[in-house]
Amino acid sequence: MRIDLHAHSNVSDGTENPADVIASAAAAGLDVVALTDHDTTSGWSEAAAAAPGLGVALVPGMEVSCKSSEGISVHLLSYLHDPTHPGLLAEITKAKSARLTRAESMVAILAEDYELSWEDVIMHVTPGATLGRPHIADALVSMGAARDRSDAFASILTSRSRYFIPHYAPDPALAVELVLAAGGVPVFAHPVASARGRVVGLETFHDMIDAGLAGVEVDHRDNPEEGREFLRSLARKHDLLITGSSDYHGTGKPNLLGENVTSADALARIEDLASGTAVVRP
Ligand code: AMP
Ligand code: ZN
Ligand code: FE
Ligand code: FE
Repeated sequence: MRIDLHAHSNVSDGTENPADVIASAAAAGLDVVALTDHDTTSGWSEAAAAAPGLGVALVPGMEVSCKSSEGISVHLLSYLHDPTHPGLLAEITKAKSARLTRAESMVAILAEDYELSWEDVIMHVTPGATLGRPHIADALVSMGAARDRSDAFASILTSRSRYFIPHYAPDPALAVELVLAAGGVPVFAHPVASARGRVVGLETFHDMIDAGLAGVEVDHRDNPEEGREFLRSLARKHDLLITGSSDYHGTGKPNLLGENVTSADALARIEDLASGTAVVRP
């Protein structure tokens, strides 16, 4: 069984539509793929319609944007939650709309130095999609200011850049509680991805664990090896499940479907814990 529990479509910052993500998963030889767009479940129905015909099982999921008390960005994967749960829906809606305002503000500052307009950014966004820096990166690539998204993130758009603006996102422990309340299974995404910026301290891990965190994403290309060892020992100590995933974004990132995988046991545990929605099987 080849299981990849983290992939994005163009309802957030991936480049393929949800059905094409499933087709790419089938082409990559995956048996199971989770669709985990940022702060939205709007890709679920299209993905669920495509999955059975392509022989792939779909785990409906989401990646919730959070911000720790130290102001550090945290991503929380949610699997199999009820997408209509009011509490969770209220928080992701708030974060999603804050992302829009924040992108507009970033473009306004960028426009002081680059020939960049809001229209140039919107061109790269599927209507209704969760907006992120990757869409601003696409506009910078189109105008020749960066080679690709990675290049734009390495220079103009890094969290250390003068153009960077943070946005509202819920506290990670609150997000864990809301995912659980919605019948979902909360898993901390790429917890030690130091290349992206500062990573959270032990206190945030423990706040999330106390709130009911179910697992940690250990095998992810952005987690350095020392960090993975730390995560494995944390998982042993607190009986957390361990996942491995690609964080596929289509052509938006070099990450390839199936480059990291999750065990069938871990998926079985996720399904046992979940009560919000079910895996869509062929
Ligand atoms: P934002 O949430 O708008 O601050 O942007 C962060 C998002 O950009 C993350 O969800 C990543 O998927 C994506 N991202 C981060 N670093 C890179 C990179 N080097 N190349 C492409 N996409 C990236
Ligand atoms: Zn992303
Ligand atoms: Fe992430
Ligand atoms: Fe992701």
